[in-house]
Amino acid sequence: MTLALTSTIAPRFLPLRLPKVCLAISAETADEMLDIAEGMARDNPFVEFRLDYLKQPVAAIPKIRRFLETHQYVTAIATCRRVENGGKFKGSLAAELEVLTKAHGAGCQIVDVELESALKTKPDVLAKLRRSAGVIISFHDFRATRNLDATLAKMLPIPADFYKIVTTATTLSDNVTMMKFLQTQSDKHALIGVCMGEQGVISRVLSVRAGSVFTFGAVSADSKTAPGQVSARDLRSIYRIEQVDAATRVYGVAGDPIEHSLSPVIMNTALRRENVNGVYVALHAKSLKDLIHCVREIPLHGLSVTMPYKQAMLEYLDNTDAHTAKIGACNTVVRGQEGKLFGFNTDIAGVLRPLEQRVTIEGAKVLVLGAGGAARAAVFGLKERGADVSIMNRTADKAQKLARQAKARVIKRADLRKSSFDVIINATPVGMGSTRDCPLKDEEIRAKVVFDMVYDPVETHLLQVARAKGIAVIPGVEMFVHQAARQFEIWTGKPAPAGDMLRAVTVTLQERANARKTPKDHVKA
Ligand code: NAP
Repeated sequence: MTLALTSTIAPRFLPLRLPKVCLAISAETADEMLDIAEGMARDNPFVEFRLDYLKQPVAAIPKIRRFLETHQYVTAIATCRRVENGGKFKGSLAAELEVLTKAHGAGCQIVDVELESALKTKPDVLAKLRRSAGVIISFHDFRATRNLDATLAKMLPIPADFYKIVTTATTLSDNVTMMKFLQTQSDKHALIGVCMGEQGVISRVLSVRAGSVFTFGAVSADSKTAPGQVSARDLRSIYRIEQVDAATRVYGVAGDPIEHSLSPVIMNTALRRENVNGVYVALHAKSLKDLIHCVREIPLHGLSVTMPYKQAMLEYLDNTDAHTAKIGACNTVVRGQEGKLFGFNTDIAGVLRPLEQRVTIEGAKVLVLGAGGAARAAVFGLKERGADVSIMNRTADKAQKLARQAKARVIKRADLRKSSFDVIINATPVGMGSTRDCPLKDEEIRAKVVFDMVYDPVETHLLQVARAKGIAVIPGVEMFVHQAARQFEIWTGKPAPAGDMLRAVTVTLQERANARKTPKDHVKA
């Protein structure tokens, strides 16, 4: 049932009834805006119409009325933010209030009035609007996250149903500031709080956990009304935002860059499949100090660590497992009960688990290409299991150093044609992305199994050549899944649903490959 528009009571109950994601819709024309709403209403029964994006907001009102009459289950916010307050509406304050009043008359149950506009409006004008509409008083800080309590104190004298504070995160720690604010104030007031900006992405998910009544979701990844917005679809299907609550444990992956990380897809799939009340987010960490502050203060129960922090993370750990110390790189952190940080390296499991399904590792002759972090995990892991390991690397010194440390041998490229192996492992980035590069020539690939750590694309040129020669192949996604599965086990104590994880990551990689082939056509909904 829709909320009774004329009721003086209904808006007061809005916080209890609202979905946790509000789809923010902006478009240049009313038809386009309503087309998006029409196409997405079933999955998104809570929408915000950004009327300020329209050239003539008032002209859209009859269309909004028709839409809301035929979609009685939809709750709509009308927003007509003025240019001076960060919106696009060039009209006067009176014109803004006229648009909002008309939008409410057309069925929008909630209206958003900026603090700056509200302060200049006579209290009885707002009170009249609020007799039948839910009112959000909103404040946007486009530069920083600061003075949250003082801002709220300025807002509270204006009677409203919700107080919304949106700031800009320039560090990950700014999200912590917003979370703490929400945690302390949301039991007293109906608050909406998020941080904008690429550093604020985690707040789009975690603010709801900290007490924000809802969060905003974008129509699609390319169509955002605020920087850092996550699509409404991802908020629901990847982050399961409707289930996120104060008891939800937070996990994440940290790196720089991190935008294209597959870890949120794979880990949230595992958390959902195993019914763990947890959510896994991507943290774009520009410094380890900032990251560690988040890990301690949010707090994060578990952290995946990726480039470029796998080595540097070691100095922040209270303890590590033997593998991490030996390899000198950590890809998994657990936060213990007293806040102590423990480091693990699950890349070893990522190498050994897929391999042991195909070969007997003890005594196997293995060639490892590369001498970086991933190669180190492979070499130490294989040596520990009794394999006979040879290393080849572009920079010979690094291969020699690793061989010395792990008691493995070094092989020169010129000798490859004369040698054959049980397994060849590519632990270099050669073959990544849309290149067709291959780390070895056809005649150098003499093995029973070829394992490529590169996982995007799934089928690298190296794997294609090996397959054509009748050699068994292990794609990098298997390593990716197994190192993630081991992380999941360490964090939750449950066996990981590796099959589901593999399916989720394969589908996402396929979608990405298709997107690379098809240029963006800006289909909106
Ligand atoms: P890294 O520490 O930067 O090491 C890279 C290694 O590759 C170095 O030995 C480097 O040689 C060599 N290399 C780089 N570019 C090369 C080129 N053009 N030709 C020949 N050799 C080249 O990186 P990493 O962390 O070990 O990662 C290596 C690869 O494994 C990456 O593609 C990464 O995505 C992949 N990986 C996959 C998984 C998975 O789960 N599937 C997990 C971890 C890593 P120099 O010493 O001469 O610089």
